[in-house]
This record gives sequence, structure tokens and C-alpha cells, in this order.
Amino acid sequence: MRRIGEIASYHAHVYFDGESQAEAARLVREGIADRFAVRLGTWREKPVGPHARAMFQIAFGPDQFANLVPWLMLNHHGLSILVHPNTADQRRDHLADALWIGAPLPLDEAALPADETEPEAAGAPNTAPSRAP
Ligand code: ZN
Repeated sequence: MRRIGEIASYHAHVYFDGESQAEAARLVREGIADRFAVRLGTWREKPVGPHARAMFQIAFGPDQFANLVPWLMLNHHGLSILVHPNTADQRRDHLADALWIGAPLPLDEAALPADETEPEAAGAPNTAPSRAP
């Protein structure tokens, strides 16, 4: 059995395509910033790494999972969101051990490293939440 201590942090990737989905993604991003101590990543208009469409990333620690993930389930505005753990095996994290909120999307498997890497920490939160989830 693997231990959950392998999980250094999580990412949620919020995907969007076109202006109306970009507007929905902005609402999700603002809603998160108001409610959760997480690290919001760069707004990416172009595909990057294994992510095949525009998206932004949320990096968060295991302590946020039980509130943030249910909030995303109820507030994704129809968008596709990939939630994956960050362990030493990025390929497995993204392709085998992830969960999807909304419709699953293809990932660019070639962009994921074949070898193990140092697990990625969540980093310092860059939000200042003022409301309860
Ligand atoms: Zn990620």
C-alpha cells in the first residue's frame, strides 16, 4: 500500500475555452481567492505542459482538500477541472491517480516526465480569504 504522506500537495487545474468559459473561470478564481488559503497560479491563455487548453492552476496543501474540492464540485460553472496529487511520480499523478470535476479532457502525455522528480510543495498562499467556504 502507498501512504498518503507521499502527497506533498495538490493541484487543481481549471480549464476554459472561449470568452464565456473564460468569464466563468474568472468567477471561480475570484470565489477561491475570497475563501481559501491557496496559491493561485498564472492565468494561461495558451496550452502549457500536459495541459491541452487554456487554464489556471490552484496549488494547495492537504489541509485544504476537504473544503476546496467540494466547493469546486458545486461551483465549477460547467468547467472541466483536473485535481491531481503531487508525489514523486508526475506521470502517475496526472494520468492514473487524478480526479475530474466536470467533463474529462485529454492531456499531452509526452509532456510528463518519465522519471521520478522531487514532489512539489504547495508554496506559500497568495490569497487573503475573508469568507467561509
Ligand atoms: Zn498540476
